[in-house]
Amino acid sequence: MNKDQLIKYSEILKNYKLERPMNIMEVCGTHTVAFFHTGVKDIFPEGLNLIDGPGCPVCVTANGYLDRAIEIQKEHGVVLATFGDMIKVPASYTSLQKLKSEGVRIEIVYSPMDALEIAKKEKDTEVVFLSVGFETTIPTEAVTLKKAVEDNVNNFSILTGNKLTPPAVDTLLALGEVKIDGFILPGHVSIITGSDSWQFLPGKYNKPAVISGFEPKDLVMGTLRLIQLIEKREIEIDNLYKELVTEEGNRLAQGFIDELFDVTDAKWRGIGIIPGSGLKLKDKYSLYDAEKKFPVKMPEEVENKNCRCGEILRGLITPPECPLFGTVCTPREPVGACMVSFEGSCSAYYKYRK
Ligand code: SF4
Repeated sequence: MNKDQLIKYSEILKNYKLERPMNIMEVCGTHTVAFFHTGVKDIFPEGLNLIDGPGCPVCVTANGYLDRAIEIQKEHGVVLATFGDMIKVPASYTSLQKLKSEGVRIEIVYSPMDALEIAKKEKDTEVVFLSVGFETTIPTEAVTLKKAVEDNVNNFSILTGNKLTPPAVDTLLALGEVKIDGFILPGHVSIITGSDSWQFLPGKYNKPAVISGFEPKDLVMGTLRLIQLIEKREIEIDNLYKELVTEEGNRLAQGFIDELFDVTDAKWRGIGIIPGSGLKLKDKYSLYDAEKKFPVKMPEEVENKNCRCGEILRGLITPPECPLFGTVCTPREPVGACMVSFEGSCSAYYKYRK
C-alpha cells in the first residue's frame, strides 16, 4: 500500500458511519501501543471503542512469580537475570529494582542467551533467568535452554512464567464481564501459533476477528475489515497477515517448545488461574527448572489494593479511570505493572495522553 492509498483508507475509517456502537479488543500490548503511536486510534469513527486486552506479558505476571524469584535470590544467593521492564514491577513486598539498589546482583539482559553467557563465564555462579513472555519469545527461551543442555551448563536455570494468549482470550469471553464484538489479533503471536489457534472465537463464541500486523496500513485495514465483519455478521477469522501467518503456524518453533515444555495452568494478574495457559519445563529438564532446583518458602502474595491493573487487563476500565493514574502512578514512579511495561495500557495512555 502506498502513501496515497493509506491516506485514502484512513479517511474512509475516519468518516465511517457505524450501524451501531461497537467494542473491539486488541489482544496484544504491541497493538495497544501501535494504535496510539501511529495515531490510528485518533481516527476511529464515533462509536468505535477499543478495549485493551491482556496481551502484555509483564503486566499479567502475578506478584507471586516475582516473590518466588526474590525468595530464590535471598535463600540461595543466585544471580537473577531479567529483561529491563521486569525490574521496576512491584512484587508483594519489594521490587527487583529496590533489591538492586541495595546491592543485590540483578543482571538486565536483552535475550536469554545473554543470561546463559553469564553462566558460562562464571561457572561458580548460579544464574536464574526470569522467563516471562508469550508465544513470540518462548521459542528463543527454548533454544537457549537446548543450548544450555547441549553445552552441559549446570549453573543456569529458568524460572518459567511464560504464558499462552489464546486461553486467556477464551477465559475473558467465558467470564462475560465485557461485551466484545470482535478482535484484532496479534500477527507476531499468530506466526507461531497459526491462525487456527484462534478458531474458538468464531466457533465457540460467535465472534469475528482479524489477524493484523503493526504498521499504520495494517491497523487501518484491520480495523476497517473487522468493522465490516461485525456489521455483515461474517463470523470468521480473516488473516490479513498471510505473508507470515499460516493456518498451522511455525512448526519448527512449536517443536522446540513441545520438546522442552508441557502445558500447564497459570495465574494471570487480575484474571486468576487460567487452565492450559502456561508452560512448565518437562521433568527431564528439572536441573534447569529454578522452581525445582531452588525450593523456597513462599511469602503470602499481596496485591496493592489501590492499583486497578487487574480490571484494566480484563477490559473493565480504562487507565484514566484509575484514581492514581498520572498522579501517584507514573512511569517514573509506577504503582502497578501496567504502568511499568512499555506495552502496558497505563503506560501507553500516559505516554500518549493529550
Ligand atoms: S494507573 Fe497505576 S495504579 Fe492505576 S491501574 Fe494503572 S498501574 Fe495500577
